[in-house]
Amino acid sequence: MKRAAALLLALLLLASAGCAAPKTLRQQTIFAMNTVMDLRIYASDDSLLQEMTRLLSELDHELSATDAGSALYALNQTGQAENADLAQIVSRASAISDETGGALDISLYNASLAWGFPTGEHRVPDEAELAALRRTIGLDKVAVSGDVVTLSDGVKLDFGAVAKGLAADLCREKMENAGVSGILSLGASIQTVGTKPDGSDWSIGVQDPEDPSNIKLTLRLKGSKAVVTSGDYQRFFEQDGVRYCHILDPETLAPVQSDYRSVTIVADSGFLADGLSTALYVMGFEAGVSLWRTSGGFEAVWIADDGSVSVTEGLAPLVSGAEAEVIQR
Ligand code: AMP
Ligand code: MG
Repeated sequence: MKRAAALLLALLLLASAGCAAPKTLRQQTIFAMNTVMDLRIYASDDSLLQEMTRLLSELDHELSATDAGSALYALNQTGQAENADLAQIVSRASAISDETGGALDISLYNASLAWGFPTGEHRVPDEAELAALRRTIGLDKVAVSGDVVTLSDGVKLDFGAVAKGLAADLCREKMENAGVSGILSLGASIQTVGTKPDGSDWSIGVQDPEDPSNIKLTLRLKGSKAVVTSGDYQRFFEQDGVRYCHILDPETLAPVQSDYRSVTIVADSGFLADGLSTALYVMGFEAGVSLWRTSGGFEAVWIADDGSVSVTEGLAPLVSGAEAEVIQR
């Protein structure tokens, strides 16, 4: 009798597996982390899409520097927090900062505030104001001990340079665990996951900084990759004919002035790609190329202000739509 019941159960399980809904494209557009996010996954139902939507709004709530209810906001107000997520982000961002000669600096929120980027009330602070702010900026004033983050001298943190890459990593893990493929556009942070059901490559457009509604070039990628772009066209203001972009040079505490309009990083980790995209935009072309030559672990595309494109050699066979100078190792 027991054997008959077991056989029946096995047959039922087989039948239900055979009836599983086919994986079809499911799409969701949300607004989180100050940007429009477009999630496209190949799944048999909407449950994972809903789970990722929840995760993204939770991260938004936890990591926003402006949201008065967020964990980061509380840390910035009180100067201390015991929070494993915050501690890990600070440690990982500090490691990228070390690798990039300080170009990535999550401690410069007070300078971003002075330029009015977080509030949208843009202004140009004078030299004396920036010099005074320097006392409240610097990773040497940020300490991590276990899960406790401590800020000294009124330092405030900003995760804007890495949060969307981190979000992409966490969504990718969920999708990989569920055996689901797809493509996530979290603003300028794009994440491909797994293989498309038809086996074709993922096709990712890199925006034309001159006209962001146009695609400058296309990258064809296989498997799970993070593709993140930083540029002067994403958030900026103009005053007296000068464009001030949202990416600050930690040396001057002023918006980066560059001959390059954007840099795109392709890497396995979203966090790394996002951190490096910001850092390489600060560093400029030559320093970015030498970091690529010495450290590896990522590929890059630069678009200059004359519209010319440079790509590291690993991406050369994957680019279409634009002539590109290929940078050799
Ligand atoms: P992204 O768009 O990833 O390049 O990140 C830019 C955002 O990171 C800005 O909007 C600021 O919130 C913050 N940020 C600006 N400059 C820096 C910098 N040098 N290092 C780290 N974060 C920065
Ligand atoms: Mg970034």
